[in-house]
Amino acid sequence: MDFISPIPLSPEDRPYRQELYKLLVADLFQRTKAALIFLILVMAIIWQLLGVVAQNHPVLPWLYLATGGIVLLRLASIILLERWPHVIESPAGRHALFLAGSTLAALALGMLNWLMVPLLEPIQLALLCLILTGINSVAVQSMAGSPVAFALYMTPILGTFALRAFSLAITEHMGVMMLLVPVYYVALIAMSLHVHASLRRSFLQGLKLGDLALRDSLTGLRNRRFLQEFMETEVERALRTWSLAYHGSMRPSSSLAILILDLDHFKDVNDTYGHEAGDEVLRQVSLILRDVVRKPDLVTRWGGEEFVIVAVDILRTPHQPLTERIRLAVESHPFSLPQGPPIHITCSVGFAFYPFLELDPEGMAWDQVLNLADGALYLAKREGRNRVCGVVAGPALIESPRALISVGKNLLEPAKAGLVGLVRRGA
Ligand code: GH3
Ligand code: MG
Ligand code: MG
Repeated sequence: MDFISPIPLSPEDRPYRQELYKLLVADLFQRTKAALIFLILVMAIIWQLLGVVAQNHPVLPWLYLATGGIVLLRLASIILLERWPHVIESPAGRHALFLAGSTLAALALGMLNWLMVPLLEPIQLALLCLILTGINSVAVQSMAGSPVAFALYMTPILGTFALRAFSLAITEHMGVMMLLVPVYYVALIAMSLHVHASLRRSFLQGLKLGDLALRDSLTGLRNRRFLQEFMETEVERALRTWSLAYHGSMRPSSSLAILILDLDHFKDVNDTYGHEAGDEVLRQVSLILRDVVRKPDLVTRWGGEEFVIVAVDILRTPHQPLTERIRLAVESHPFSLPQGPPIHITCSVGFAFYPFLELDPEGMAWDQVLNLADGALYLAKREGRNRVCGVVAGPALIESPRALISVGKNLLEPAKAGLVGLVRRGA
């Protein structure tokens, strides 16, 4: 992976590595495509200019054809990778294909040079060198500053020039070429590194700005906007595994758990210890929540002293241990404040699973499921706080699966009617 990003990232930039890498690869494909299209045009021009030589050598026309074929194949593979990225799922596989294609194209060009160079007059050689400089200055940018990719691409092409220059230097004509080749090589490396560094800077800047808009500034947690984006992909993934499990005739048990947590009597913390202390408590709660969930799960600050947690790939057991673990973690934590001894606070949690309806997984959208979880939270508050309340589909819901969509915050009525089941845990 590092051949795309030879300049190491600073520790503060490391969280963006994955995203940055994706952007650089996308840019790489874009530039390579442009370079190859350009190359095809230039090859046609070379064909015209050096046609006399080509006619005089039986192998050259075939070599032109082979080179053109490889370049076209390369172009096709780039378009394929870009349009249908799922054809090769792993980034490493895509990478390898890209590198192999570039090397093949470079080898073809190198071979073309190799056969043509001894046939050319110095003036024709200089012309070819000029044209190839043009091609390479575009192509080398597409290598995005990677020394490995750069060497793979450039060595066959420039190697032939270097060899020819050496042989001609003995015969007085091309001493200048001998000087030009290493200068050209070094200049291209410098240009490539410069392009790469500035690309990386601007991509990083964009990523950081975008990231700020998706974070809560007080706690550093993700915010509501991020949750929306996160759910778009997670819902799709959950529905896919759901349908796979169904068609495999297993009962689906893995889903998303959507939890909403509200601190109990938080206003009292502000009133007694001040707003600063309240802010400190919110920061510590965010650390506790991040600590208690698994890595792929998401903790967001929903607003005020409310947090929404989405746990992915979770077992669909009504007495989900995670919910109780969260409640206990908050309850047992001594919150240290800017002044005075540590305090203890509690929280209430409401939760529901997505998909909500086992037989109709798409029957209820994730935000409607969050509303149901909010209803469960409301109940947990009403029943005394510092507790967890979950809501699951009831037996009557099978006959009227849409009946829940318009349900308000009070879940007791639908529970009585058998539309939902309520699960309670806590102090
Ligand atoms: P309940 O158990 O019913 O949830 O009681 P509560 O006092 O927590 O409920 P309520 O929603 O009435 O109060 C929430 C308080 O959270 C009110 C508001 O001042 C405080 N709050 C919201 N956002 C922030 C914040 O960013 N910092 C601080 N310090 N307080 C906040
Ligand atoms: Mg609240
Ligand atoms: Mg509250």
